[in-house]
Amino acid sequence: MKDSQSCVDLHHTLSTIFGFDEFRDGQLSVIENIVAGKDALVLLPTGGGKSLCYQLPAIAMPGTAVVVSPLISLMQDQVEQVNELGVKAAFINSSQAQEQQQHTYDLLNNGQLDLLYVSPEKLLQHSFLKLLSNLTVSLFAIDEAHCVSHWGHDFRADYRQLYQLKQRFPDVPVVGLTATADRTTQADIVAQLGLNDPFVHKGSFDRPNIRYRVVQKYKAFEQVAQYIDEQDGSGIIYCNSRAKVDDLTQKLQKRGLRCASYHAGMESEERAWVQRQFLTDSIQVVIATVAFGMGINKSNVRFVVHHDVPRSIESYYQETGRAGRDGLPSEALLLFDEKDAARVRQWIEQGENEERLALCLQKFAAMESFGDALTCRRQVLLNYFSELTHTHCGNCDICLDPPKMIDGLVLAQKVLSCILRLQQSATAQYVIDILRGRQHKKLDPAHFELSTYGIGKAHSDAYWHSIINQLIHKGLLRVDIEAHAVLRITEGARPVLKGETQLQIATPRLDVKSNKKSESK
Ligand code: ADP
Ligand code: ZN
Repeated sequence: MKDSQSCVDLHHTLSTIFGFDEFRDGQLSVIENIVAGKDALVLLPTGGGKSLCYQLPAIAMPGTAVVVSPLISLMQDQVEQVNELGVKAAFINSSQAQEQQQHTYDLLNNGQLDLLYVSPEKLLQHSFLKLLSNLTVSLFAIDEAHCVSHWGHDFRADYRQLYQLKQRFPDVPVVGLTATADRTTQADIVAQLGLNDPFVHKGSFDRPNIRYRVVQKYKAFEQVAQYIDEQDGSGIIYCNSRAKVDDLTQKLQKRGLRCASYHAGMESEERAWVQRQFLTDSIQVVIATVAFGMGINKSNVRFVVHHDVPRSIESYYQETGRAGRDGLPSEALLLFDEKDAARVRQWIEQGENEERLALCLQKFAAMESFGDALTCRRQVLLNYFSELTHTHCGNCDICLDPPKMIDGLVLAQKVLSCILRLQQSATAQYVIDILRGRQHKKLDPAHFELSTYGIGKAHSDAYWHSIINQLIHKGLLRVDIEAHAVLRITEGARPVLKGETQLQIATPRLDVKSNKKSESK
């Protein structure tokens, strides 16, 4: 097909309608396959140019392309954009007035639309499917196709019904598009949509302009506040609960930051307002749950902070991916703490059914290993998405400031013996208070007499938190979430306590400020 007239046409359409000189990597093959009537699966990161993969065939092929999109705001944006290019496009969803819908139906019936955006529930209405079956549909594009999969990070029940399309319209090509790349989800999309030997294009998921950083979380609010003080640009702070979102917003507002909350517990008008304020730079920072995501089309987000560890690498990748869509240097900062991790693991264990449990735990384990990694973060991320790479990126905390390994035996012994003397019934902070020789009313005065009292004065709280975390990663300690997150010693700690082994640990990474060396005091 390469030299045929149609390939020339495709280029022509690209330049005359879209104003682009060249296809990006993969776009042309996807488009050629769709035009040839084949199903396709397009996996490209956010900003990778997915829309063109169905918009151009929509123009090039006879009939109307039907695009399924989960969010009204997304549809609206897209329709406005292509209308501006002179493409005949419209959307239909239940939020519209009857008249408006009727107008679109008229255009559709008269064959005057190249592109029609619909919500899945609208599309799947019996009457709507019937209407379509009397028209020429050029293709179906399923945007955010991972919503079809339980294994994706944003499952939507309506999407599950989309298998009907292939059954009812076996000859119309279906293209699924997503920025989620892991293999399980990918296979599930193909299965759920009933794609027939699809052409698969997977682009690179690397976002080279995003600098990935992980910092030991120890005093989250102070750390976030300090970080924000350094930032001029827009940013998003993700938290794991609505309560935390609201609490953090309040505290940051008190410090004079132009910021607002965004979560599913808020009225939709209020959410829309926040989104607008953010888009127009009237507020600098949005503090949000995962509800703030899809459809946030702001190109100049300079930083994304994870106040809490996400449940999977996909979520982390999606959320951090909202930074730097304009290609300019941006940062993703994760505040990581073992106690948080243990809590998330517990949520997963309690909240997931048997079918999903193992997979969710596995996904979370991958997220944790990203946080724990002492190798290039980008490598961990890309390798997770099966984009094997062996080169160091030079733009993550590990590459920029490689961890220095130190002899950690004595440090570990101090921690472990302190925990033993506290009868393994103290939290990390309590253990640290005793190690550092503190006195306050929450501490049992009997513990001031312990031989380990005050033996850790030389280091900061944050330093000890990092050491404790590393001992947890190494399996010498575990957090007992059932018992108020107290620290328990494992069998593996015995040789360390007895001094029968060596123990290397990394110097703690504590500073939220960019490009600074870790604190060692
Ligand atoms: P995605 O849906 O994958 O997040 P978009 O389809 O919104 O990404 O595309 C991201 C940006 O890239 C848009 O501004 C789009 O106009 C631009 N773009 C897409 N394809 C090309 C191309 N071939 N040449 C130049 N820019 C492109
Ligand atoms: Zn790196």
